[in-house]
Amino acid sequence: MSADQRSASCDGRSRSVLLARPRGFCAGVERAVDIVDFALRLYGPPIYVRHEIVHNQYVVREFETRGVVFVDDIGEVPDNSLVIFSAHGIPPSVRGEATARGLRTIDATCPLVTKVHHEALRYVDEGYHILLIGHAGHVEVEGTMGHVPGHVTLVQTVEEAEVVEIPDPQRVAFLTQTTLSIDDVAGILAVLQHRFPEIVGPTKDDICYATQNRQVAVKAMSSAVDAIFVVGAPNSSNSNRLVEVAKASGVPAYLVQSRAEIRTEWLEGIDTVGVTAGASAPEALVRDIVDALRGEDGSLEEMDAEPEMVQFPLPVEVVKDLRESGRDPDELIRNFRQRWYTPSG
Ligand code: SF4
Repeated sequence: MSADQRSASCDGRSRSVLLARPRGFCAGVERAVDIVDFALRLYGPPIYVRHEIVHNQYVVREFETRGVVFVDDIGEVPDNSLVIFSAHGIPPSVRGEATARGLRTIDATCPLVTKVHHEALRYVDEGYHILLIGHAGHVEVEGTMGHVPGHVTLVQTVEEAEVVEIPDPQRVAFLTQTTLSIDDVAGILAVLQHRFPEIVGPTKDDICYATQNRQVAVKAMSSAVDAIFVVGAPNSSNSNRLVEVAKASGVPAYLVQSRAEIRTEWLEGIDTVGVTAGASAPEALVRDIVDALRGEDGSLEEMDAEPEMVQFPLPVEVVKDLRESGRDPDELIRNFRQRWYTPSG
């Protein structure tokens, strides 16, 4: 996209934009996309990734052009290939299938999702039945439930919390999907704690720092804007939750993946817009959408909420192979990450 195109707003008007910070890529997503990038550099294409590495089509397409093949089933991976597991985590059955086939694997599961898997296994070892607060069909939920089959019941709503049955009310634990709305979980948990006073769980909940910080930032900006645009994919849980949080704060909110999705009727009478991005949305998309909303003369201001310093280490085998090939992982990370932060030409 040219600079001229970027400077024109999508409805020909200029307006003020408030940009939430933190927004966009979290530490788990950065780690996952770094892993795929390094695997391409080290081992060459084709490389297979089970499920979208992160829920964003821009990222997926970037990798597809470099020779990554995304699959939903390990059965689609040819023999003797390398397969990477996405940031959302996998049930042990998927790892077992890959191992049985002799496939080489790299696990890009976010460490905060792995933490939930470990909590689930520990609770079941201790004789607890688990109530998992989450959304049916989400790949992270499938991965977590797959670690403790037969010992976990999914609870999606307050209504479900009010009627869910468990084997023993004295031995019940709760866990949560990492990307939920803080307020929704609080409501569901209140019902579960009322019905099962002995329920145990993590100190707070498992909603990750990135999900929480982005929701806090959206709430903070909601009183200062006329509408909020969330940059993210329809299948991105944390992006959808940001839209819900904005709407619950009384502001019209829209999920968009590109400037082409912005409808001009959404902008009628709107002088100040807030922009944020889900944890899997690259900054390059955010900047393009900001340009489309702001126009040539609109102001742009960043609004700070919680500072983020979280970083997750790469898998040791990837770092080892990079060093043995004479590459410096830190330098590669610095160079490679630029592509997600700069609008492509
Ligand atoms: S949103 Fe949270 S749990 Fe998901 S990858 Fe990012 S840091 Fe990890």
